[in-house]
Amino acid sequence: MQFDTVIIGGGLAGLLCGIRLSESGQRCAIVSRGQSALSFSSGSLDLLSRLPNGQPVGALGDAIAALPATHPYALLGEARVRDYATQAQQLLAGCGLALQGDIDSPHLHVTPLGALRRAWLSPQEAPLKPESNPHIGVVGISDFLDFQPQLLAAALCKRGFNACSEEIALPTLDALRDNPSEFRAVNIARLLDAPEQYAQLYDALYPLSQRYDLLYLPACFGLTDNALFTRLNQQLACPLRLLPTLPPSVPGMRMQHLLQQHFIRSGGRWMPGDEVISARVSNGQVTQVWTRKHEDIPLRARHVVLASGSFFSNGLIAGRDRVREAVFGLDVLQSDNRNDWYCDDVFDSQPWQRFGVKTNAQLNGLRQGEAISNLYVIGSVLGGFDAIAEGCGGGVSAVTALHAATQIIAQGGDE
Ligand SMILES: Cc1cc2nc3c(=O)[nH]c(=O)nc-3n(C[C@H](O)[C@H](O)[C@H](O)COP(=O)(O)OP(=O)(O)OC[C@H]3O[C@@H](n4cnc5c(N)ncnc54)[C@H](O)[C@@H]3O)c2cc1C
Repeated sequence: MQFDTVIIGGGLAGLLCGIRLSESGQRCAIVSRGQSALSFSSGSLDLLSRLPNGQPVGALGDAIAALPATHPYALLGEARVRDYATQAQQLLAGCGLALQGDIDSPHLHVTPLGALRRAWLSPQEAPLKPESNPHIGVVGISDFLDFQPQLLAAALCKRGFNACSEEIALPTLDALRDNPSEFRAVNIARLLDAPEQYAQLYDALYPLSQRYDLLYLPACFGLTDNALFTRLNQQLACPLRLLPTLPPSVPGMRMQHLLQQHFIRSGGRWMPGDEVISARVSNGQVTQVWTRKHEDIPLRARHVVLASGSFFSNGLIAGRDRVREAVFGLDVLQSDNRNDWYCDDVFDSQPWQRFGVKTNAQLNGLRQGEAISNLYVIGSVLGGFDAIAEGCGGGVSAVTALHAATQIIAQGGDE
């Protein structure tokens, strides 16, 4: 099978890169083994919240200048980071993802535990830090354990906000209540997204919307679009906002779904449930890629993009003494001494979070110090950053994905 570009991994990074390439007319395939980190994410994307020393980021340019040389943003430089982040916002909007936020005005969104967390882009339904002091009704669903309204209301009150907890029953969910392990946000959404359930949800929420200035509800509907959220906001007596629950996350799954659909609509070949198991590299170029399902028919492409994710998605694998990149055996930024992998305080930035593939400034993967010139490495399989401590996971994925796509497009489709 012949493509212009084969992408290994269909998470945020692989999909953004694939969409940009397909939209430019490239024949592009994404091979993706399983669920990506998006299904477990809040649905908000981070650009850069803190420096490696923990200092909060003010101006983006100053922050990028202060990053270590191995950080993907430092490899690309401020101008490109800004440009690609702006392009990513437009691309996400074009996929039907209504997101609030902007690179130059990061916002604080409310977390399910009542903390205020900085983000670059958030779903339209995400509650941002209230500007005034509204009377907030935090509404739980009876027996649903993955969202605790009392905890959130108490945390908000501690921060000086005026919040009370409430509960709605929604008898339509009784079938799920029989089995607590089935009573999860995604299964609830499959029921509530059906148009015939609207009346029950509206009837439960309307009286509360008359008593409060703002309602918070767990994000338990809107798996494929936010039509139900929009309709409720038009018809309730006060605004409604939705908070992500414990994973799997409805806003994250919606992002995955919309990006996948857009990739397919723009002509991309989506190969789910398959995995790249090996590749041939000769004369500094990837020539063939083999997958588990097509074991005797290699995929051939002028360009290959590695977007296989970090430890979470098995793009990186930790052995007893070293960490390896799973497909190509690329050079990995890591500490040789295992004792240096961890810090004793689990809340500190953990050194292993920065482990990942080494590249040159074009994001070509290195093997024994030599660049593989048609292999681009993007997203969380890259080394040099701590997505959690620095709050930059979504941004690194988006910015590196568009950098790789831009270089591939510049080289043209056919030789
Ligand atoms: C649990 C979790 C929650 C997070 N939440 C947030 C958040 O709320 N906001 C934020 O900005 N960042 C968050 N992050 C950071 C996150 O890593 C990035 O934002 C981004 O989603 C990573 O995307 P990715 O495409 O690089 O990797 P992934 O999302 O990990 O996707 C990699 C994909 O590659 C596939 N794959 C791996 N190996 C192969 C192979 N050999 N062949 C084929 N397919 C393969 C995997 O199955 C997976 O689908 C979170 C990370 C984790 C782990």
